[in-house]
Amino acid sequence: MDSGRVRPPALRWRELGAAERQQALRRPAQVDGAEIAEVVAALIEDVRMRGDVALRALTARFDGVVLDDLAVTEAEFSAAETAVSPALAAAIGDAAGRIEQFHAAGMIPPYAVETAPGVRCERVLRPIRRVGLYVPAGSAPLPSTALMLGIPARLAGCRDVVLCTPPRADGSVDPAVLVAAAHCGVRKVFKIGGAQAIAAMALGTDSVPACDKLFGPGNAFVTEAKRQVSRLEGGAGIDLPAGPSEVLVIADAGANPGFVAADLLSQAEHGPDSQVILISDDADLINRVAARIELQLADLPRADIARHALRAARMIQVENLDEAFEISNDYAPEHLILAVRDARAWLPRVQAAGSVFLGDWAPEALGDYCSGTNHVLPTSGAARFVGGLNVASFQLAITVQEVDQQGLRAIGPCAIELASAEGLDAHRLAVARRLDVA
Ligand code: NAD
Repeated sequence: MDSGRVRPPALRWRELGAAERQQALRRPAQVDGAEIAEVVAALIEDVRMRGDVALRALTARFDGVVLDDLAVTEAEFSAAETAVSPALAAAIGDAAGRIEQFHAAGMIPPYAVETAPGVRCERVLRPIRRVGLYVPAGSAPLPSTALMLGIPARLAGCRDVVLCTPPRADGSVDPAVLVAAAHCGVRKVFKIGGAQAIAAMALGTDSVPACDKLFGPGNAFVTEAKRQVSRLEGGAGIDLPAGPSEVLVIADAGANPGFVAADLLSQAEHGPDSQVILISDDADLINRVAARIELQLADLPRADIARHALRAARMIQVENLDEAFEISNDYAPEHLILAVRDARAWLPRVQAAGSVFLGDWAPEALGDYCSGTNHVLPTSGAARFVGGLNVASFQLAITVQEVDQQGLRAIGPCAIELASAEGLDAHRLAVARRLDVA
């Protein structure tokens, strides 16, 4: 067991050069990027060539179990209902209610605008037809992720929903994951994990239907597999890079060190490649948080995983909170906790983050489970340009134009002028012939 001290060194931002600053904010998973890409490419190729045979072999290799049937049966769904305690079933229902409430309120509406007399432009929404959901379970099964993916898929109206999750050593799927999936109406569940699950849903095999778009978080292998399949010709689309989890906490002198330590540890226990960063303008607060981390670690069942992640943790001392927000916006964390006084007043300073937790009473764990927001969020700096999952992620926005004769007369000359300028005569004529001016 790894019980060494994990106290990360406090870095004084002002004293670091440009290269040291860049190094300080480097994500752990990016370090082995090339190696992971090579492994994943081989796994995808294997699934493409051998289909279900490859899936069984890779499941035996990575998950340690030999499966005849990759699909979860109805009997297994029923067994899961009885295996889950009433308290957990109630918590799943309770969380689902709030997630649904928040996501339903954020659905984008269709709209129509008359851009000229007789010209009506519209946006209509359609569910993506075949979607594939990935629910991680390598180091811990995440029924909460089944809700975070399944609820927006249902609200969007997706009909063909496939879910993959790694099996346990006994060949079963975690019952809470199945209960959460069933809660969202998802019944096509496969016991497949990692890059091979992503390949199966993207390419299709005899057992697993091919999907148009893949969703869900996962470790570096899963994230890399999503990236690679999205580049294949005719490959599936992907939601966003939701890889190894990250938290950045900005804390002032008034923050509660015990709370901050607990939040950092809740992130660190996700996986050895989780990224944990604390930024504060108060050296004493940093020291007190570091001491609390040591204390709290002693009681954690997943202390080994957390210790591993904490080796890549960063504690950064800044001159003032303005500097803290500058660093945070450059880093673009998946989760950003503002453990500062009058946290809401600082919110306008946040320019790039997946999800923000305001004040001392909003631990990130609430967003992970049941506040109502989605926990599938951009990692690796992707929060600079994309937000977390929502119902629109599962929909296609299709634009429509309806034009009558009056409309064509109103805007046709504009098109003719532009088509002539671009030298596209067939375009010009498609309008001109209708206006009878060809
Ligand atoms: P996982 O289900 O993502 O991965 C498990 C699978 O990884 C295994 O089934 C196996 O097939 C594959 N694998 C493991 N080692 C391998 C190797 N050496 N070579 C090839 N394949 C290998 O589960 P996990 O590992 O627990 O990771 C879950 C991840 O999801 C964590 O990193 C967590 O931080 C992240 N997460 C992210 C978000 C988000 O929104 N960004 C949300 C929840 C979880």
